Parts: sequence; C-alpha cells; structure tokens
Amino acid sequence: MRAMILEAPGKPLRLTELLDPRPAPGQILVRVKACGICRTDLHVVDGDLTESKLPIVPGHQIVGEVAAVGEGVQPGQGEVAAVGEGVLPGQGEVAAVGEGVQPGQGSATAFRVGQRVGIPWLGGSCGHCAYCREGRENLCDEARYTGYQIDGGFAELCVADARFCFPIPEGYPDLQAAPLLCAGLIGYRSLRMAGEGRRLGFYGFGAAAHILVQVARWQGREVYAFTRAGDEAGQAFARSLGAVWTGAADTAPPEPLDAAIIFAPAGELVPAALRAVHKGGTVVCAGIHMSDIPSFPYSILWGERVVRSVANLTRRDGEEFLALAPQVPVRTEVHAYPLQDANRALDDLRAGRFTGAGVLVVNG
Ligand SMILES: [Zn+2]
Ligand SMILES: [Zn+2]
Repeated sequence: MRAMILEAPGKPLRLTELLDPRPAPGQILVRVKACGICRTDLHVVDGDLTESKLPIVPGHQIVGEVAAVGEGVQPGQGEVAAVGEGVLPGQGEVAAVGEGVQPGQGSATAFRVGQRVGIPWLGGSCGHCAYCREGRENLCDEARYTGYQIDGGFAELCVADARFCFPIPEGYPDLQAAPLLCAGLIGYRSLRMAGEGRRLGFYGFGAAAHILVQVARWQGREVYAFTRAGDEAGQAFARSLGAVWTGAADTAPPEPLDAAIIFAPAGELVPAALRAVHKGGTVVCAGIHMSDIPSFPYSILWGERVVRSVANLTRRDGEEFLALAPQVPVRTEVHAYPLQDANRALDDLRAGRFTGAGVLVVNG
C-alpha cells in the first residue's frame, strides 16, 4: 500500500510503499477513503509530542470501508462480542461502568466487510485500570493512540481495534465525515467540560470551532469567536456559522463570558480567557499541547474561576457526538488534498491558509 510516513520529528513525511497490514484478532482492516488532518498531527510531526512510534503513519480522523475482519470481530450488529484478546472485564456483558464505557450497539466489534467505519484518536486502552473501570479510558496510562503509537490513516489501508471504532452516520460523505472524528469528538468533550453557560468564547477558529459553533447554537447558546488580530477571513467565517461576535484574542468581549474554550496552542490565551470569563466561569484548554502559560495575577483566577484541560476522548463521547451531529445537523467545510500532498496540507494548516478542516483524500 501507499503511505505517508514520518521517519523522524521535524522531517517532512515521505511517500512510500509498505506491506499491506493484516487484521489481528479483534481488529478490522480498513480501506481508507479520507483522513482528516489535525493540529495534533502537527505536534507529532514537529516532535512536540515525544512518545511517537517511529516510523509512524500519522492521521487519526479516518473514514473508510471495512475490507476484512480479524478473528473475533462479529459480523452481526449490536452483540458486543468476546474479542480475541478481550480487554474488557466480563466479556459479553461488558463494562457498563462508571460514565459508561460500553460502546453502543452497532459499534465495537460488530463490523461487517463493506461497512463504513470511523477510526478516532483513541486506539486502545488497558480496560482494567482504575481510569478504565470508571469510564475514564481517555486518561488510561496504557492508552494507545492512532497515528501516534498505532499507524494511522495517511495510507491506503490501516488496521484498528474494532472496539474503538464507530459506524459513520448516514448522510455524511466520507470527506465531510472525517473531521467529525477528532475536531468533532474532542471538541464535543471540550464543550461538555465548559458547562451549561449561555455565552461561550472560542479562542482559535479552526476545524473544531467551526463544528462546535454549530452545536452550541443549536443548544441555544451564543459563541464569541476570538482569532488572531487581523484574521478577517477567519472572523467572517465564524460569523457565517453563527458566532454573535468576533474579535482579536487580546480584546475583551462585549459582555463577560460564562466559559471559554481555547483551541489554539498558545499559552498566553489562558490569562486572556480568564479575563474574559465572569466569576465561576471555566476556561477549557482543548489541545494536546500548548506553549507555556505566562504567569498571571491571582485576581483573574479568583472568584472560583476554573482552568482545566481536556484529554483525548472516550468511546462514549464518540457515540454521543456521532448521534448528535446529524440532528443539528453539523455541516463540515473541508479542504481536500490528495494523500501524497500531506506535507502541503500540514503546512497550510500550520499557516492558517484555509478555513474549516483539511482532509486527505485517499482511495477517493
Ligand atoms: Zn486503563
Ligand atoms: Zn486530532
């Protein structure tokens, strides 16, 4: 198969031929149709994230078609199956533990050849640590991530643990579905962590924000979009999707916010966002990596303001969000690149050369 691989951080990806992967017990083999690009891919490529397998095929917003199923993957629907190396305690009944680890019907280990499938960032977790048992598999110390420790979707084929994959909702073409799988899922988790307040600030208006503004609006909330100073195109894009106000990241919103989500990886946005939320407000850092946060006066945290991060996703986030997206309905704006242009796509993401989400077209 053709694949774009990262051999060392800081080097461009290289187009190469790899042996076709084969599905191990519990895995599905997926013919990749589209794979979204994400800021996390940049952090992997740049070496900001230091635990990458090398060489690695990046890409963790994968939409494709099941080409083969490994031993133990049920062709049926709904029945959560005892998979090859059954990680979940009490196979069969599975782990509806804590927040609900249980992948809903139709997903998890129930895939048939030809079915459309989505592969997200969380590629596997241990299933037995305290975090996993409490439904917080996103915090598992042994979790493995697609396009980071497991070869991902910048390739014609990939394999994935079926229990961590999702069926793709009908009505979304492959390209448009891809950004739902990280920008959408982890963005949705961030939105949940921001609480129920009505006035939300978004710092950085990329792939995640352009999805979440639609969800927030549908929930009856107001989004205040902060961009780089002078980013007229980004601000116009935010308003076109329903943001009630747009401005530069260092300006104050017209009214104090209930919560803010920081999508951009810039630590100086934390004190800026704290100044924009009122007492009791939450500032959520949604990215996996951020530059250092400058020191700030305690007075801007005082008043029970909260700063928190959001890490990864649980399967429950995926199921909830993929059920919600068609109801809104969330529409994604995508900029397509052929697989072999992955380096150009990543450069364009880094430089902010497109609005919405970048997607690689693989077996288009
Ligand atoms: Zn675990
Ligand atoms: Zn991502």
